[in-house]
Amino acid sequence: MISDGSFRLDGKLALVTGASRGIGYHLAKELAGRGAHVIAVARTVGGLEELDDEITKAGGSATLVPLDLTDLPAIDRLGGSIHERWGKLDIMIANAGVLGTISPIGHVEAKVFDKLMTVNVSSVWRLIRTTDPLLKLSDAGRALLLSSSVAHSARAYWAPYAASKAAVEVFARSWAEETKQTKLRVHSVDPGATRTAMRAQAVPGEDPETLPTPAEVAAKIALLCDPAIDETGKLYKVQSGKLLSYNNPS
Ligand code: NDP
Repeated sequence: MISDGSFRLDGKLALVTGASRGIGYHLAKELAGRGAHVIAVARTVGGLEELDDEITKAGGSATLVPLDLTDLPAIDRLGGSIHERWGKLDIMIANAGVLGTISPIGHVEAKVFDKLMTVNVSSVWRLIRTTDPLLKLSDAGRALLLSSSVAHSARAYWAPYAASKAAVEVFARSWAEETKQTKLRVHSVDPGATRTAMRAQAVPGEDPETLPTPAEVAAKIALLCDPAIDETGKLYKVQSGKLLSYNNPS
């Protein structure tokens, strides 16, 4: 079932990583616009403050968490802090990610590979681990993990990033399977090519005007936070302005 978009999130608490720019920024705005209080995580304080200004001006509210996701113990502490202050979490979106370098697999520098795996994989697992008990306390917990089409389509020179996104999809499927008897619903979602800094780094020659904006893409992804959705463990993608479910490659 794809949401018709008419739902509200008043009284809900949503955590979004990578909220300082790009898709995460607009996901945070979108959820706040629907009434959720947003916990916005990223390193760039300026980007988070800009987000906070926009959310506040629109009548919403946010808590800013300047955090480097390579600081894995800090992610563990985040769950504890959320529990102490709010006692539950309704939505968790693991959106932050890095591309690393696009190069032949044997040429990737170890430090680039390790950082990519830390941000794209280890931090996502830590987020899952620290938010799982909080999301289960929600009456309609929702978790979304941001993936990419390269997780299941061979593309030369993208191996580390592709492998990290494949891992994320497996996390989502496994977590969904483990929690299907609860009210938590878990999906992975490929946003598709989107006009962001990451896309410009990945495909520098491309005209960004030909790509959908992160606001347009985020509006579609946010539909997966509809408390009425009952499915879990699905893989979604945003394509041609639509949110589509596609078969898990399992
Ligand atoms: P951007 O590069 O525009 O934004 C990435 C976000 O991640 C920023 O807010 C950045 O914040 C945050 N981030 C990166 N490293 C860290 C870190 N160490 N600690 C905390 N936050 C961090 O990316 P997009 O918006 O394009 O991508 C969002 C997601 O969508 C990613 O997971 C990406 O892989 C996926 N995706 C994107 C596509 C696209 O075409 N744009 C296509 C397919 C998938 P800061 O630097 O402030 O810390």
